[in-house]
Amino acid sequence: MICPYCGEKIDDANATHCPHCGQRLPLARIIGLPLVGALTIASASVSLFSGILGIGISLTPGPFPLGIPAGWILFAGAIGLLAFVFGLIGGTALLIWKRQDLAMLGASWVLCSGLVTILIFSLTDYFTLQVGVALGLPVVTVSSMSLILLFASRNRDLPILPKPPD
Ligand SMILES: [Zn+2]
Repeated sequence: MICPYCGEKIDDANATHCPHCGQRLPLARIIGLPLVGALTIASASVSLFSGILGIGISLTPGPFPLGIPAGWILFAGAIGLLAFVFGLIGGTALLIWKRQDLAMLGASWVLCSGLVTILIFSLTDYFTLQVGVALGLPVVTVSSMSLILLFASRNRDLPILPKPPD
């Protein structure tokens, strides 16, 4: 790895700071933007699953399972679908155009959809809360990781992942 601040070579692959100039290395350079982009898209895909599930359940005639009002399930499903769209766009924008702002927007939506899922399922009883956590927690966890990595790797002075000199 080449330090983006002083241009010196850094031999330690796990270094978080440049041993030559002491600057903190952008996290994206260490873990790689592709991983963050993939995380964002992965969490968005889980949102798609819960979104389709929610909309499917709410549109199914008959008594609604789990005692949750259909309108709330539809709402959670719609948020999940939107989160999938935003997450997919955000993750792709990060991978292709290095657009961290779009990736943050996408990951934020995905995080919100996971929280909304847990919240809505928690409204009735402990069993549905478990279902909500099973659906929402992976989304919340993965999108939070994306957001944390995105925030940690923000760097206004330098473009993300410039071509290494050698
Ligand atoms: Zn340096």
